[in-house]
Amino acid sequence: MWHRHARHCPLCGAALVIEEVERRPRPRCTRCTFVLFANPASASAGLVLDRSRRVLLIRRRIQPFRGDWALPAGYQEEDEEPAQTALREIREEAGVEARVLGLVDLMFVPDDPRKPANVAVFLCAHEGGEPAPGDDAEDARWFSLDALPGNIGFDNNRRILEHLRDPEGYPHPSRNLLREALRGL
Ligand SMILES: [Zn+2]
Repeated sequence: MWHRHARHCPLCGAALVIEEVERRPRPRCTRCTFVLFANPASASAGLVLDRSRRVLLIRRRIQPFRGDWALPAGYQEEDEEPAQTALREIREEAGVEARVLGLVDLMFVPDDPRKPANVAVFLCAHEGGEPAPGDDAEDARWFSLDALPGNIGFDNNRRILEHLRDPEGYPHPSRNLLREALRGL
């Protein structure tokens, strides 16, 4: 993670030193008031279903989990609503237009080597377009819930797809949303 390797203040260019600030050791500028606070990134993922209740997955072209299947997902731009991020990533990675049905989960992902992230997972309905890979994806396809690929990247992606198969066991208020979506879009 880049902030662990930062040596200079991004505002004035002076050296950073590690000092305790607000109860934790943090890089602080030796000249100005800058303190480098490290926070998780914000990301969004799309759990897209078509009318046959198949789920849209993309095959990752980049690390981590290169070559594995995953939900279309990516980091939020600073001027985007989280739901817009999900729809943009679905379009860019899988070539598909979708409509947001609701927020399914907010997952903390501490094990991404790039940086920890909070991932907002949006349940979406397919609106148009056939899957065609783009950006960080080398493939994009619909999968039946009873024929998901074996190599699914990210623990949380496996968990969320298991919950989609069996919403009754989902320890979360959005199990009703999943249940209704699976009944018919
Ligand atoms: Zn500075």
